[in-house]
Amino acid sequence: MPLDESEAIILRTENYGEQDKLVVFFSREKGLVRGLAKGARKFNNRFGSSLEPFSQVRLFYYEKEKHDFVTISNSDLLASSFELFSQIKTNWAFAYFAELTEKFSPYREKEELLYRLLQAVTSAAKASQAVEYITRYFEFWFLKINGILPDFNRCQHCQRPITSSSWLAPERQGVLCPNCTRDKKMEVTPIHRQVIEWMKKNSPICSPDFAVTSQDWKNLGKIFQAFIIFHLEETPRTLDYLDF
Ligand SMILES: [Zn+2]
Repeated sequence: MPLDESEAIILRTENYGEQDKLVVFFSREKGLVRGLAKGARKFNNRFGSSLEPFSQVRLFYYEKEKHDFVTISNSDLLASSFELFSQIKTNWAFAYFAELTEKFSPYREKEELLYRLLQAVTSAAKASQAVEYITRYFEFWFLKINGILPDFNRCQHCQRPITSSSWLAPERQGVLCPNCTRDKKMEVTPIHRQVIEWMKKNSPICSPDFAVTSQDWKNLGKIFQAFIIFHLEETPRTLDYLDF
């Protein structure tokens, strides 16, 4: 069995049997992978604190043919994210990012952009960026990377440019202008579009240079989440805990 190694971000772990842990990680070279860390539940084990969520690590593992799980033999901690999880909001936001990454990503397929997004939101949180902005930033780029971000600047029915407010189309293919919509439930306001344009061009460390209220952040989240839920065909479990 050849030993493989990869830089990776730990998404989550769960206990497996008496002494082991199942580790879900996103690797730079292979994308989403699940592995077994043998002995990781034992006191003083060789993995130390490297398998905590959003640790950035170098993982060494074996792949067995016809096995879904790789066997993790060692893990070097490159950067810990432990400091982030004393804040409950940040905790849930990152659990949500991990759930979306695990549910949407094909197994063992490299996705460099998503890897970089996970790194960027982690760095922004460590730099004390507001969790509302980081979460919307993740949702926006996550939709874009997965090819399911609608065009917010054009009515998907009449194709006219959107100049003021628009509303989500009931089938979630995009947005509708005031003339075409019949269902004024989920409004995309000019400020939402301004935030979207900002996120296209800036890093998550860099907050918008215009005022955005907490209600604006929340409503923009509902819009992104409507597309996420539509494509996932279920509500992410962790979404229940996000109240921003
Ligand atoms: Zn229209």
